[in-house]
Amino acid sequence: MSKRSLRDLPPAALDGQRALVRVDFNVPLKDGAVSDETRIRAAVPTIRYLREKGARVVLLSHLGRPKGPDPKASLKQILRDVERILGTPVEFIPDPATGVAATRRLPRGGVALVENTRFWPGEEKNDPAFAQLLAALGDFYVDDAFGAAHRAHASTEAVARLLKPAVAGFLMEKELRYLGEALDHPGRPFVAVLGGAKISGKIDVIQALLPKVDEILVGGAMANTFFLALGFQVGGSLVERDKEDLAKELIAQAGAKLVLPRGAVVAPSLSRAAERREVPSDRIPGDCAVFDIDQATRLDFRSHIVKAKTVFWNGPMGVFETPPFDAGTRAIGEAMIEAGKRGATTVVGGGDSAAAVAGLEDKLTHVSTGGGAALELLEGKPLPGVAALEDA
Ligand code: ADP
Ligand code: MG
Repeated sequence: MSKRSLRDLPPAALDGQRALVRVDFNVPLKDGAVSDETRIRAAVPTIRYLREKGARVVLLSHLGRPKGPDPKASLKQILRDVERILGTPVEFIPDPATGVAATRRLPRGGVALVENTRFWPGEEKNDPAFAQLLAALGDFYVDDAFGAAHRAHASTEAVARLLKPAVAGFLMEKELRYLGEALDHPGRPFVAVLGGAKISGKIDVIQALLPKVDEILVGGAMANTFFLALGFQVGGSLVERDKEDLAKELIAQAGAKLVLPRGAVVAPSLSRAAERREVPSDRIPGDCAVFDIDQATRLDFRSHIVKAKTVFWNGPMGVFETPPFDAGTRAIGEAMIEAGKRGATTVVGGGDSAAAVAGLEDKLTHVSTGGGAALELLEGKPLPGVAALEDA
């Protein structure tokens, strides 16, 4: 179901009106400074559009997981970054209960940022009374916080039921288009590439994707559990021994769709990369662990990916944080870019996967900013923050 978009609101609904915009400014901080501003930048198109149309923009976000007010989780810490990225001064509202006057004072095109919504217990309880306080800060509601849409909180769910119109911002729209509609009606062949640390946690994603995809390529530590199911030894590799039966079931269910790695890059430990070597998947030495897919697998996966019309990727192929074990993961990114050049829709979802393609976003159709929310959408679960918005 597609949702009413900010684009659908007529000029008169925007000009001079207070837009209450839920953004996802839950950015990583290092010593009080923003270490990755991707999520702030992702909200810029919506904020810029509203400002250009003469709206007064009131931003809401959470940051971290504070238990009540906590200076280390204050959004005040990112105020200067938000001002720099937006190119305009931003008024800080320390408490929604007393913020209404400040929102009314904003000039057309002016911007305010409300303190971390999680400082108030009503936020995570989805409390209607707290949502009412938030709703008083705007004349209409825009949800651009896809990364928070899987949580029914006051600033994502209850407020959208109180303050109308309640529409999707441009980032939200893009996430729903590429993770929802594009994967529901994919150009074929549709190839999914899955990796990362564990099968558990992604079982529902695998099961939801299986009937939709033409091929599913599995790498990363996730593949080790499939190796066990096939009777291969995995040495000291990261593996889920209690998920062996599940892996057997998935192998039976997937049939010819499932493509497993032909071989692996193994080493005695992460720190002994100089001793790494490539082995076939059924020859993993007992005193080694798998840290990446091997060259033969990279070429094999590439050949599937470049022939696809839709590629969805979640989960690194190896311990990409520790070079040289990033090579398999990088090879998948490159193959996706090549598929894109040949006309494929290429979508990346997942926190670590997005980090692995950082800097390549322009060469891919869509890199999702929402980790947990993206996976839940793929599983076909309704996202409360999306459900609360008006249908198109
Ligand atoms: P995402 O955040 O994209 O959904 P995950 O969180 O599922 O991805 O998995 C990412 C993690 O998986 C990374 O920290 C990576 O180091 C780890 N990983 C991938 N392959 C292996 C492997 N062979 N051995 C150990 N860890 C691995
Ligand atoms: Mg992760």
